[in-house]
Amino acid sequence: MKLLVIEDELALQHQIRRELIKEGFTVDQADNGEDGQFLGETERYDAIVLDLTLPTKDGTSVLKEWRDADIRTPVIILTARSRWQDRVAGLNAGGDDYLAKPFRIEELVARLQALIRRSAGLAAPQIELGDISLNTESGRVYCCGNAVDLTGNELKLLKAMMLRPDKVHSKSELSEKIYGYFEERDSNTVEVYVAQLRQKIGRYFIQTIRGRGYTIRHHACPDR
Ligand code: CA
Repeated sequence: MKLLVIEDELALQHQIRRELIKEGFTVDQADNGEDGQFLGETERYDAIVLDLTLPTKDGTSVLKEWRDADIRTPVIILTARSRWQDRVAGLNAGGDDYLAKPFRIEELVARLQALIRRSAGLAAPQIELGDISLNTESGRVYCCGNAVDLTGNELKLLKAMMLRPDKVHSKSELSEKIYGYFEERDSNTVEVYVAQLRQKIGRYFIQTIRGRGYTIRHHACPDR
């Protein structure tokens, strides 16, 4: 899961980033409206945390322009303002949720997870596909009735594929799930992680589509 945090108070931005990374997210950040808008337009995020009062361009304008450009990424608005009018303006501009500062990071994490689930059309944190189940909050994975221990990056790839089982995921899309915008990307490492995942969950579940990427298959456990 990949998130964008647009916040100009750097201490808060760093704190949010640190906590989200700890929760297993890949996180990009921007400290002004224009840079944030650019990242939101060019990168694929699962959700965006957007402060409203920002240098170069305010958050409400950024959000409105994304929505006008048909960028539907779920957005949580952060606001230091206590005025209800600002929150209404933010929600009217296309925000999906808001949080008034100061807030507990735990609440932001819970709201982000709920937002990502809702946008993926899931009501519960448990995603199940045939004999694999993944709890998107705890990161626990069961395959064929056994608990499977995955590394952070293996989990990111499996989650991306399980949230969109209908889709063929290209290596570059999957590498975007692992690496932030500011990190060097290497789509060859995706092959390595997929190979590791196959060793852990069984080779039947992830199918290679030649020249296009990978997809996850609805597959019963072979020895049942
Ligand atoms: Ca601000």
